[in-house]
Amino acid sequence: MSYPRRVRIARFSRQGRQAFGLVEGDVGAEMLGVIEGDPLYTPINATGERVRLADVKLLAPVIPRSKVIGVGRNYAEHAAELGNDVPVEPLLFLKPNTAVISPGDDIKYPPQSAEVHFEGELAVVIGRLCRDVPVERVGEVVFGYTVANDVTARDLQRSDGQWTRAKGFDSFCPLGPWIAGGLEIDDLALTTELNGELKQAARTSSMVHKVPELIAYISSVMTLLPGDVILTGTPSGVGPMKPGDEVTVTIEGIGSLTNPVVAR
Ligand code: MG
Repeated sequence: MSYPRRVRIARFSRQGRQAFGLVEGDVGAEMLGVIEGDPLYTPINATGERVRLADVKLLAPVIPRSKVIGVGRNYAEHAAELGNDVPVEPLLFLKPNTAVISPGDDIKYPPQSAEVHFEGELAVVIGRLCRDVPVERVGEVVFGYTVANDVTARDLQRSDGQWTRAKGFDSFCPLGPWIAGGLEIDDLALTTELNGELKQAARTSSMVHKVPELIAYISSVMTLLPGDVILTGTPSGVGPMKPGDEVTVTIEGIGSLTNPVVAR
């Protein structure tokens, strides 16, 4: 499915039940209009039930059945801050779907690392099976957009030579707070705060490889499935977190994703 009109789709649990809902109303007083089934696979159909956002626990808005595809060094200033060149072609890596956690869930600091970094990123949620998608048709395969934190064990990323372990720990892919459909994402403000202190501030217009190009490129390599997630890269300002910290990534037009950090 893809949603040309503006919708915000949340997944939540309440009183032991999990469901999806459309986020409605003003900031601070949002309501969830509960919908039937999983909107990734079935057209949105309201049940008529409405619950207060404040009364639910938000869940990661999508659990990828297949894969999370990351894009490295997709903002020039971030590539430079880690001493890297901007890649000519998108630099891809995979995160296991078992790394995904919900808003508010703990980022578990693994004992194998002494340098775990936050990376605030715009995430694309794929809505239909596709491959070899032309740039001009990517709108047909995008379900919507959400906020991600591409948590990375920077020391292991350096020492391992490839990124599977550094990017793949359980809890290293917070997603949320919901999926925004029908959103223009060419020039959105993205910020990351650690314990309320601003660490990253950029606009998605600074991406080296833009979202349509990324989808075309990735789908020329691997088939994309409904619920697959693409992390579009982080801007400059990445830095370490420690147990006891709280990290918030915010993207204009979507919302904020906050997670505490705890020792595993
Ligand atoms: Mg990243």
